[in-house]
Amino acid sequence: MTDSNASDKENTPSNFIRQIIDSDLAEGKNDGKVATRFPPEPNGYLHIGHAKAICISFGIAEDYQGICNLRFDDTNPAKEEARYAEAIKKDVEWLGFEWDQLHHTSDYFQQLYDYAEILIEQGNAYVDSLPADQMREHRGTLTEPGKNSPDRERSVEENLDLFRRMKTGEFPDGTYLLRAKIDMASPNMNMRDPAIFRIKHIEHHNTGNDWCIYPMYDYAHCMSDMLEGITHSLCTLEFADHRALYDWFLDNLPVPCHPRQYEFSRLSLEHTVTSKRKLNQLVVDGTVDGWDDPRMPTLSGMRRRGYSPESVREFISKVGVTKKSNTVEMSLLESCIRDDLGERCARVMAIVEPLKVIITNYPEDKVELMPAPYHPKKPELGSRDLAFSRELIIDASDFKEDANRKYFRLKPGGSVRLRYGYIIDFQEVIKDDQGNIIELHCTYDPDTRSGHDKSGRKVKGVIHWLSAKQAKPAQVRVYDRLFSDATPDVGHGDKPFTDFINPESKQVFDNAWVEPSLWDAEPGSSYQFERQGYFVADTVEHLTGEKLVFNRTVTLRDNWAKKS
Ligand code: ATP
Ligand code: MG
Repeated sequence: MTDSNASDKENTPSNFIRQIIDSDLAEGKNDGKVATRFPPEPNGYLHIGHAKAICISFGIAEDYQGICNLRFDDTNPAKEEARYAEAIKKDVEWLGFEWDQLHHTSDYFQQLYDYAEILIEQGNAYVDSLPADQMREHRGTLTEPGKNSPDRERSVEENLDLFRRMKTGEFPDGTYLLRAKIDMASPNMNMRDPAIFRIKHIEHHNTGNDWCIYPMYDYAHCMSDMLEGITHSLCTLEFADHRALYDWFLDNLPVPCHPRQYEFSRLSLEHTVTSKRKLNQLVVDGTVDGWDDPRMPTLSGMRRRGYSPESVREFISKVGVTKKSNTVEMSLLESCIRDDLGERCARVMAIVEPLKVIITNYPEDKVELMPAPYHPKKPELGSRDLAFSRELIIDASDFKEDANRKYFRLKPGGSVRLRYGYIIDFQEVIKDDQGNIIELHCTYDPDTRSGHDKSGRKVKGVIHWLSAKQAKPAQVRVYDRLFSDATPDVGHGDKPFTDFINPESKQVFDNAWVEPSLWDAEPGSSYQFERQGYFVADTVEHLTGEKLVFNRTVTLRDNWAKKS
């Protein structure tokens, strides 16, 4: 996917939201403008679910020559922090999107307050002093209507006076609430006199101590959309029941425009959880090594894992936009990154679990240089020379003592080709007193040099290898799915989702080796380790001691399909 493709409307599959926008434009609504927004709450890091919301709102703005704002929905100061806002900006930019304007809902606190006074003056809002437990009781249930609060008929003057005193800080938390006066018998619970402003004596990361009353989400959201001139306010399905309230505020207040809300289904991904609260729990419990742990479905974790923004956007585009709830297979995400990396990554030699091989008929101090292209089908990626010498390292799993006829790697009596090198023939296995394998002795066949093979010999197995003296030490972190269960947080009764952590989701190999060309690897650069998978140079701990650190992004093939 190239950038020009990404922003080309003709190439983006249509969906119900785009059809609505098309017909709005055809009818000349909103002066022919399209304006969207992405409104995260800065109370955690963005995850793959947010990527869907981002791609929808920003993607529509790109394709319709409209605008998309980034708005921090920061009405709940207890849970929000500036560091989250910074991380969110970085993630949106990483995905390749540019916001038109950057806003905070808190920038509108004064306007939201002023409009609330209008609601009071209209008789559409009142200050309620019912204690919380009684308020809950008055609210009714899904099957029973609620009851009016005794404060519902308070006079406009009294309401205005109390609301102003709420603002100046005269009352403690929880004593008064400003509520919309709608309908306590409405079948839609959201319409039963919902709260508009509540008292909270708490410092806000943006407005400091200017305010001790804070607006509620439903009120702040539609009004912020209106203040920014948003035309299409796109959100997830759990807000569908709130749409009536969204419209009620805009219908009742003297506002210059009326944005429209449309809902699409949330994205869930198998073998992980997409809820900031649950992800936060994993961080706080120490189950993972932070929000950017490469196993996390956060954008920062996926970036560290080696996912490219293109692959994430491609994945979101494959998932599509519908109202049907969708839990997507992890293998779809993995195939997107595999396709992307397969096209552009250099293929290199790396040994995760080493086994020493001595080539007994090769001179002690001789070194031959074996030309090896970085990609068999992409000459433009160039090539390097691999050193061949008497002492080599292969992967321990490429030797088997008790191997059957179908095992084509190294085994007693067997032969194997070293990729870009020679065919070697097994000689003997050297063990310590406890019977542990220390090294293998092999001979090489000088007539079989890759590219110059005059021997006519055919061997079935080809393995990767390194010359011990030239190889560079590395630590390889092999990551796998964080949860062994496909839906850890659905359908397990009382069992917490944390019961399904995959105990093998992180394996650290401390004695790994990589070819010398990787010594200069830029943090964040991706490679295919031949025959093993795609790996990325870690961006956070590029070196541990003298060792380069690599994270496994994904295997070469879908191993989980086999397992399950
Ligand atoms: P979480 O439940 O993880 O805390 P949230 O919905 O509370 O997520 P917000 O910061 O409020 O997170 O979300 C910003 C926007 O992202 C919202 O418009 C929301 O609809 C959307 N969004 C959040 N999670 C998903 C998801 N899994 N799939 C699609 N969109 C999502
Ligand atoms: Mg939220």
